[in-house]
Amino acid sequence: MRHVYVHVPFCRRRCSYCDFAIAVRRTVPSERFVERIRQEWALRRSALGAQTRDAEIETLYFGGGTPSLLHPRDLTSLIAFFRDEVGFAANPEITIEANPDDVDGMSAALWCRGGVNRVSLGVQSLSAAVLEWMHRVHESEDGLKGVALLKDAGLASVSVDLIFGLPEGLGADPADDLRRLLEVGPDHVSAYGLTVEAGTPLARWSARGTVAVPPDDAYAGEFLRVHETLAEAGFEHYEVSNFARPGRRSRHNQAYWRGRPYVGLGPSAHSFDGAVRRWNLREWARYEATVRSGTDPRDGDELLTAEQVDLERLYLGLRTREGVPPPAPGTPGDQVVQAALGQGWLALEGAVVRATPEGWLRLDALVSALTTSPDGG
Ligand code: SF4
Repeated sequence: MRHVYVHVPFCRRRCSYCDFAIAVRRTVPSERFVERIRQEWALRRSALGAQTRDAEIETLYFGGGTPSLLHPRDLTSLIAFFRDEVGFAANPEITIEANPDDVDGMSAALWCRGGVNRVSLGVQSLSAAVLEWMHRVHESEDGLKGVALLKDAGLASVSVDLIFGLPEGLGADPADDLRRLLEVGPDHVSAYGLTVEAGTPLARWSARGTVAVPPDDAYAGEFLRVHETLAEAGFEHYEVSNFARPGRRSRHNQAYWRGRPYVGLGPSAHSFDGAVRRWNLREWARYEATVRSGTDPRDGDELLTAEQVDLERLYLGLRTREGVPPPAPGTPGDQVVQAALGQGWLALEGAVVRATPEGWLRLDALVSALTTSPDGG
């Protein structure tokens, strides 16, 4: 139980591209939410069994939704709850995701004092037109101000989220946004390509033909420009969407990518014990009523098969700089790897092969070629 995720589902409004499990609220039931998380923990503690014994928390991650909508007093009390109930390892990583308009000197100071040492800031863009199109609630300069305020407050690590691959005509320039953001000194950047998810406003606009995502070569060009801009600034591209200054990788996300067990609490949160993955009820209202009545909010679970475990290991390994061991020489999997090495999509580094930025653009095709080759890679 070294890695704990808490899903905070509340948002002020739904962003145009978002299909996450959220609850749009003008007033956030912050205290009630924290109480339900405590209750869920109590309900599941005996089932977690060995995972909770002799284990201290190395990483605690509040994701969402918008965790920065919780009252800092409630967030702090939840961190204290985990400290008392489980305990933290030396130098734990405690992250919250925050929207830029929730950051001010007071909130940053209270988060720090409560034990938060990493903030992941949902900047997404510095263009007013793009933010309006995204239905974001913050202003274009809030992202820059937010990073500066968090650094001033003494946060050990500040990450920013950016979105690229936006429809042409919006005038988005993610590489230019990045250059401006780098001036205020983030330690980590997560850059995500826009995807059209079913049921979102973006999917409806796309179906009506009022927006069109950029063609593949434009998308690839933006991805590579983001990579180059951050590489020049000294960031390591350590996962397909993530870049860090030395020593500033997300330890929590690395635990996922390395297949480590974790416990997820809150609506829609997933947990993994090394063999079984389970997930909670998705909707806040159902989750809340279930936990309040003293029932485990489990919605489903699955025992991963050996094939699924192997496929995840391959996929996650190639998503990261850690790579995967190469297939045995002369096998069909080896032929796929040799071809990809020749194209510059994979690189051989010591005892592993890892994807290059060009390879990350073809990750699904590479994994598919490796898994459908007769020796399964
Ligand atoms: S703030 Fe984040 S979680 Fe909330 S609607 Fe926007 S993208 Fe989705």
